[in-house]
Amino acid sequence: MTTPSDSALRVAVVGSGPAGVYACEALLNWSDNEDQSGRGIVVDLLDRLPVLYGLLRHGVAPDHPRIKGIARTLEGIAADPRIRFLGNVEFGTDLTLTDMRDHYHAVIFATGALDDRRLGIPGEELDGSYGAAQFVTWYDGHPDSHPEWRFTAERAAVVGVGNVALDVARMLVRTPEQLEPTDIPEHVRVGFGTNITRVVSVIGRRGPAYAKFTPLELREMDKVDGTTIVVDPDDLEYDDEARELRESDRRVGQVCTQLEKWAEAQREAGLGTADEAEAAALAAGDRVVRFRFHRSPVEITGSDGRVSGLRMEITEPVPGGRVRGAGRTEDLPVEAVYRAVGYRSAGLEDVPFDPETATIPNDSGRVLDSVGGTARPGLFTAGWIKRGPTGVIGTNRSCAVETVGTLTAELETGTLPEPPRPDPQAVRDLLADRGVDVVDGEAWLAIDARERQLGEDAGRERTKLPGRAEMLDTARSARSRSH
Ligand code: NAP
Repeated sequence: MTTPSDSALRVAVVGSGPAGVYACEALLNWSDNEDQSGRGIVVDLLDRLPVLYGLLRHGVAPDHPRIKGIARTLEGIAADPRIRFLGNVEFGTDLTLTDMRDHYHAVIFATGALDDRRLGIPGEELDGSYGAAQFVTWYDGHPDSHPEWRFTAERAAVVGVGNVALDVARMLVRTPEQLEPTDIPEHVRVGFGTNITRVVSVIGRRGPAYAKFTPLELREMDKVDGTTIVVDPDDLEYDDEARELRESDRRVGQVCTQLEKWAEAQREAGLGTADEAEAAALAAGDRVVRFRFHRSPVEITGSDGRVSGLRMEITEPVPGGRVRGAGRTEDLPVEAVYRAVGYRSAGLEDVPFDPETATIPNDSGRVLDSVGGTARPGLFTAGWIKRGPTGVIGTNRSCAVETVGTLTAELETGTLPEPPRPDPQAVRDLLADRGVDVVDGEAWLAIDARERQLGEDAGRERTKLPGRAEMLDTARSARSRSH
């Protein structure tokens, strides 16, 4: 490890989700292996939350501990003494772009995407119409989410056939007992006791060959006790193009095969139609997740301001993997609609933003003033706000490596601006002057230890603290103990 000198490169990474932490890792690797100047590096990892790991903590479903295991890798990176965590610090409010330019040679924006894309159809504003992220952040215990979720629907529709739709559908049929081993805050687990959902319909506007599911995540649907998966056999038809895709793409083939297995199991049980299969599962006391394809939502219908149904246009395939309306509609009676049609990044104060793609215009991670425009020296971006909300967590590693490669190339060519106040203490003093209750690495470790203790008391690895106030209280008492 290179010991940073007084003239160390000062970098701020805004956002401590996977992309931000992987950017830290790439910066450390550069400093250890490629930095010819030997000046070393000191990185401030900023987050508006008092806790680390972004969507890994507040986006991955709690019943996916396999993916949460990535946290251990990220922990190792964040524990490097050259990385300084500054949590509970909001870019744009607590620190402005001008402040960043004053204190850092370079800033990497890695703030991700946590807003929901909208469908743009009538009825989206009705009570009972939700963006997936609203539900996900609630069940994942995001400190800013409302503490209660009102489960008022026996029948719900989830629009979209990606992995977020699978997470939402699976969580909608969970019981508090099934969530016992997970890290969710206790109030969320108890909240699942009010879950009256019986049937969840997952709606794809194209055919099954175009579903974005990954096979592993789709198969996991089968492992929820007390839930039957229902597939409409009539939906499992392919035109030539879809058949070709199914044969050439292994993932697509596995997804289609899994859906067919469920349809086949229904047939073998003497349940020819999806309606029969659904009725039989409900009569047996099961909950149902039902996949429906070739249906494009056109309106969320309501009565008395509440969702009462989802109107869908039946679609048919046209060349290019697209669909068109077949001129018929179908009304699905549901009391809740969850849109899982993709996330959207939010723009950042004074940072260029392309509203069309909801990303920061960039060239290999170098921020541009507009799409295809000129570079903004010293500003970089990584992760979902750089490239859009796609890919698995590991995709953010290569994405961050590219960005850091661009940054260090600029350092080597001398194009990074020199900040007037590079001393690491200067930014802490500024935040203190502004009365910001910074959660530093030590305070985060206290929050982490408290959550592990709460988990241990309940026989699990961790129980998340329920809100920001509890996190800040834990941080404060740790500080007062150490003084
Ligand atoms: P996604 O994979 O892009 O899926 C979005 C879905 O919404 C697609 O089926 C899309 O259909 C549909 N859609 C978009 N606009 C629509 C409209 N107007 N009407 C009807 N349907 C519409 O996005 P995501 O599910 O939000 O996932 C984001 C990323 O996170 C993905 O890379 C995903 O794999 C990853 N992720 C992974 C996991 C995991 O467990 N491994 C969990 C969650 C998320 P079209 O294809 O027809 O546009």
